[in-house]
Amino acid sequence: MFVHYRTKGIILKKLDRKEADQLFIVYTKDFGKLEILGKAIRKISSKLRSGMETFYLSEIEFIQGKAYKTLTDAILIERFKDLRKDLERLTIAYNISEVLDGLIQGQEKEERIWNLLKEAFEELNSGKLGIKNPKLIYHYFFWNLLSVLGYGPEFYQCPVCREKLRPEKLYFSQKEGGVICQSCFSKQGFGKEIDPDTVKILRIILNKDKNIMPRLKIEDKHYKLLEQISKDYLSFILERTGQFDTLNI
Ligand SMILES: [Zn+2]
Repeated sequence: MFVHYRTKGIILKKLDRKEADQLFIVYTKDFGKLEILGKAIRKISSKLRSGMETFYLSEIEFIQGKAYKTLTDAILIERFKDLRKDLERLTIAYNISEVLDGLIQGQEKEERIWNLLKEAFEELNSGKLGIKNPKLIYHYFFWNLLSVLGYGPEFYQCPVCREKLRPEKLYFSQKEGGVICQSCFSKQGFGKEIDPDTVKILRIILNKDKNIMPRLKIEDKHYKLLEQISKDYLSFILERTGQFDTLNI
């Protein structure tokens, strides 16, 4: 007899497997990230198909076999239909899925990540919080995910000399895990220049300040810098953890 496990999950990815099978990467409320095989799920007659589209929130049931988990039930809860109408929002949902899949390896329950993921998808779908720019939703997810995983950078104190950061020309150092001051930068010579406004934006994102976030006016140059810093920092983390080739965003 197999034990049947039930949980809620957001489907991050699906990959075709032999015959009509599909492998699903699902982030679940109770078990963290799972890979679950949907047997013969590409057949029109499969009853499981309707609950297993990419970016659906569904209640799923599976059994644990010797080699893999097999899907036994899937009931759609939320299809996030408005998210699908907008290419930019869809791209952000894709990037969120890639980052999450790339950074999380083993199966481990983490309710904070589940809540963060659900919140990001709800915001991409309905904009309940009023965050108009989907790019900000991505950064909200990305930086808070890093923080849960223990890679949250220091944005208040220079991690080298421990001095409080002043609103002057500052530098983001991947190696030091945060924003370093001018004097430490001049001694060490590595880091990417970051202006005080971008540092402020990152603080607001990490404080999850939901009153301020919708009102943030972020210029394109700040988004560009945020994008560059987050990409570089992500590569740095993936390289250190040996997962560098797994990501495709
Ligand atoms: Zn310093």
